[in-house]
Amino acid sequence: LSPVPSDIEISRSQSPKAIELLAREVGLLPDEIEAHGKTKAKVRLSLLDRLKEQPDGKYVLVAGITPTPLGEGKSTVTVGLAQALTAHLKLNSFACLRQPSQGPTFGVKGGAAGGGYAQVIPMEEFNLHLTGDIHAITAANNLVAAAIDARVLHEATQSDKALYGRLVPTVNGLRKFSPIQTARLRKLGIDKTEPGALTPEEIRSFVRLDIDPSGITWQRVVDTNDRFLRKITIGQASTEKGQARQAQFDIAVASEVMAILALTDGLRDMKERFSRMVVGSSRTGRPVTAQDLVSVCVRVCARAFPLLVSNLYPQGTPVFVHAGPFANIAHGNSSVLADKLALKLVGEEGFVVTEAGFGADIGMEKFFNIKCRTSGLRPNVVVLVATVRALKMHGGGPKVAFFSRCSPWQNLQLVADGCSNLRKQIEIAQLFGVPVVVAVNVFRTDTEAEIDLVCRIARDSGASDAVACYHWSRGGRGCVELARAVRKAAQQPNHFRFLYDLQMPIVEKIRTIAQKVYGADDVEVSQEAQAKIDNYNEQGFGNLPICMAKTHLSLSHLPDWKGVPTGFLLPIRDVRASIGAGFIYPLVGTMSTMPGLPTRPCFYDMDLDPDTEQIAGLF
Ligand code: ADP
Repeated sequence: LSPVPSDIEISRSQSPKAIELLAREVGLLPDEIEAHGKTKAKVRLSLLDRLKEQPDGKYVLVAGITPTPLGEGKSTVTVGLAQALTAHLKLNSFACLRQPSQGPTFGVKGGAAGGGYAQVIPMEEFNLHLTGDIHAITAANNLVAAAIDARVLHEATQSDKALYGRLVPTVNGLRKFSPIQTARLRKLGIDKTEPGALTPEEIRSFVRLDIDPSGITWQRVVDTNDRFLRKITIGQASTEKGQARQAQFDIAVASEVMAILALTDGLRDMKERFSRMVVGSSRTGRPVTAQDLVSVCVRVCARAFPLLVSNLYPQGTPVFVHAGPFANIAHGNSSVLADKLALKLVGEEGFVVTEAGFGADIGMEKFFNIKCRTSGLRPNVVVLVATVRALKMHGGGPKVAFFSRCSPWQNLQLVADGCSNLRKQIEIAQLFGVPVVVAVNVFRTDTEAEIDLVCRIARDSGASDAVACYHWSRGGRGCVELARAVRKAAQQPNHFRFLYDLQMPIVEKIRTIAQKVYGADDVEVSQEAQAKIDNYNEQGFGNLPICMAKTHLSLSHLPDWKGVPTGFLLPIRDVRASIGAGFIYPLVGTMSTMPGLPTRPCFYDMDLDPDTEQIAGLF
């Protein structure tokens, strides 16, 4: 239709495919799915075992140029490309997406189901937590946080004997260690299974984690852009007996629990990663792990299964939605499990299209250096999404809100200047040795001359191909040229390589990303960050990959610095460690792990119609 209706109107005008039919079409057996209503189902991991001899399909990563705050259409390209591959090139395909956080849904950017005629349906469910995975992650994360502070209080106020009596109570005249306690004894090297056999010294080391309150690194999380939780004081009630301390909330999608869900390859690995999560240090500098306190798996286990849904008819092609780490403050990629299941299901000739958040400097760099290291998977093609509006902004043009309202407005000079950012992002993709196809996501405000110019510059800059995409206004048929270009690029030789060696010192790894990817002259590491790095080295965590927390709005640390900034030092303010997820986590510049709401957030336009029982204004 023209004009294209709103995303929610398009979504509502169609009935999603019945989940049993979709599951059958993609080759799932009836007992491999667990239906949640009529249009979605969790897919059991036993599928990986059944299809282990099946060769993987082709693996396509969708990344982008440095975006405007509204997003340049990576999710829509992911969905549109999958629609085109299946419906028009008759190739099996899967799209793998992350679950949207309420932060952007109610904040500035809006939802993440794609949009126009390239979206996952029903979009209101997609954008409002689906089966509640993010809530489960929040609950699991906060259970760990509550366990830490309660333990500090209990240790501060009880004797060894009283603690031991409560931690290992007598039931029917017998004391028995719990699984967590058995693991702790093993960690302490105490080889006893009978609680009565412990010496007073062993009891003391067993009951006292001796957590240093100032060394607690685990934070509470909530899935709302609530900036007033960036710094808080907890434990002020008299019942907490003077244990008040400063703490903070992070947004739920930055939780290490979320990162683990996205990186794990199965329940056994997930359990091990949860137990390795470091939540703080003891007063003697020993790392305290989540395993010392609580079993996180119990709260998250059922969430390990990716969710199968479909995108718009007539294609109705399959989509896996699983996990949802942010790309600027977490590793920002759809889940390893979803990608692995999809690669088996599509078969050797099929394609899996997976999305990495924000610009290639952010989501794609982490895709290669973190996700690919963990999964062992290697992509065949990178699709780099660009828009004329973002390129004009990089060329010195007006900020983005202007474009959404104006009529076609040609300015070839701004586009040509802004293509510096596209060129740099192509170079970044090429650092990893994978063919790059540029997808120009066409808006109604773009002119043909502008689109041709972008495609020409992209090809001259080393892209295998560059094509205009009209999936938003035309669905899969608007993306056929991209599908053909991707199929062709997937046949090209692939010289995949990582950007850095894990054995390099932590600061060297950070410097490599800063210089080779962001274009910085060097890094400037604060004293606090250096002290933490020294501590992580001492604790034996120096060989992990790096997950930079940096603004997505610039290649540099300054959001207003567009195009390709040069001549800057990248400030590393602080460094954290996500040991279970398996990365070191530098905080760049003023980057916060809790976003805030703008003056006019998306929720101003949302409403509920009591007569139709439908949500209005969801984009
Ligand atoms: P990203 O994944 O890069 O953040 P999205 O695919 O989520 O971007 O798109 C962001 C928003 O822009 C969505 O609301 C989507 O409907 C809209 N959008 C994407 N492509 C177009 C287009 N070609 N024309 C108009 N709106 C678009």
